[in-house]
Amino acid sequence: MSTGSRERIYLSPPHMSGDEIKLVSDAFASNWIAPLGPHVEAFERETAEYVGRPCSALALASGTAALHLAFELLGVGRGDVVVCASLTFAATVAPAYHKGAEFVFIDSEPESWNMSPRALDAALSDLASEGRGDRVKAVVAVDLYGQTCDMDSILAVCDRHGVPVIEDAAESLGSLYKGVRAGGFGKFSVLSYNGNKIITTSGGGMLLSDADSIKRARFLSTQARDPAPWYQHSTLGWNYRLSNILAAIGRGQMMHIQERIEARRRVFDRYAAELGSLDGVNFMPEPEWSHSNRWLTALTIDREGVSPVDVVARLEERNIEARPVWKPMHMQPVFDGARYYAHDGDVSRRLFERGLCLPSGSAMTQEQQGAVISAVKDALR
Ligand SMILES: *Cc1c(COP(=O)(O)O)cnc(C)c1O
Repeated sequence: MSTGSRERIYLSPPHMSGDEIKLVSDAFASNWIAPLGPHVEAFERETAEYVGRPCSALALASGTAALHLAFELLGVGRGDVVVCASLTFAATVAPAYHKGAEFVFIDSEPESWNMSPRALDAALSDLASEGRGDRVKAVVAVDLYGQTCDMDSILAVCDRHGVPVIEDAAESLGSLYKGVRAGGFGKFSVLSYNGNKIITTSGGGMLLSDADSIKRARFLSTQARDPAPWYQHSTLGWNYRLSNILAAIGRGQMMHIQERIEARRRVFDRYAAELGSLDGVNFMPEPEWSHSNRWLTALTIDREGVSPVDVVARLEERNIEARPVWKPMHMQPVFDGARYYAHDGDVSRRLFERGLCLPSGSAMTQEQQGAVISAVKDALR
């Protein structure tokens, strides 16, 4: 039972390659510490190319800032409706909450754990028949734990109802949907480089969209200054840009994105091989249209008397960081009474009540993973 002197095993720690510091040194050497600078422009261009759709990209201080600008550009305001996947992190909805939007939450489908197109269709149809169709300003589809949504189905439903889509791909950089990279869907898509994501700038985000929208977002994210010889403002904005230093880190990280994805997929595969046959244990599925970056290995435990919170506590005794699956938004106290469209029973509630995320870092050693595996086996014994 002893953890010995072993270092803590984190859920998803940063993984530097050595290339980041070279690019950061270059930023220092050229004194491009601020404002913005050539690494920012290169990081934006390289990210748009990597995602691979004809789009522009805007590097920002966080994924949450990117979501805020997407809601802003879609005109979300008080009394408008935002329809969103319930099973997600609160940052997906926080900016629209602060704008006074009302939320309708959508259940997950069991095949992908992501937004159910069927439940989404039911919600949008009801809103239309209530005469509130034109108040629905956005559907937010979240690519959870590295897996894209069933995008064709979701986009078809949203097209039919005339609602723009925001793809929250914060967890899914490098994942594929039918061969197309995450971040390549919807009117806006959002990436995150927070410290625990598959790559990190220590903190940062990216907004992707068409050139005109990104031009407007760029203006709003840099204090919305009119083109005048003095400080003039026809509107007001935010200070949301990413610094040149952090963009340099991001470029160094992007040089290794493919290795990081492969490492996380190997981590997942070993967990699945060694724990998958335990009674009641099921890993997050991967539909045939998906190629997940496996940002976090997620699984469910269906056993009488075993809750994921207990397993998290047992792993903590061995200095291992694990987490329950996201608590769905429709179960959060702040959204008490919000509308919710279940898929079949209540899939996202069940995933929360039984789901667990295991340490999944791309730099995790075989020994560390072995320690996690024995800890899980002991907890389930
Ligand atoms: C991390 C995350 C965000 C927020 O990104 P930050 O860069 O941390 O602001 C948004 N949505 C999801 C699903 C996330 O996991």
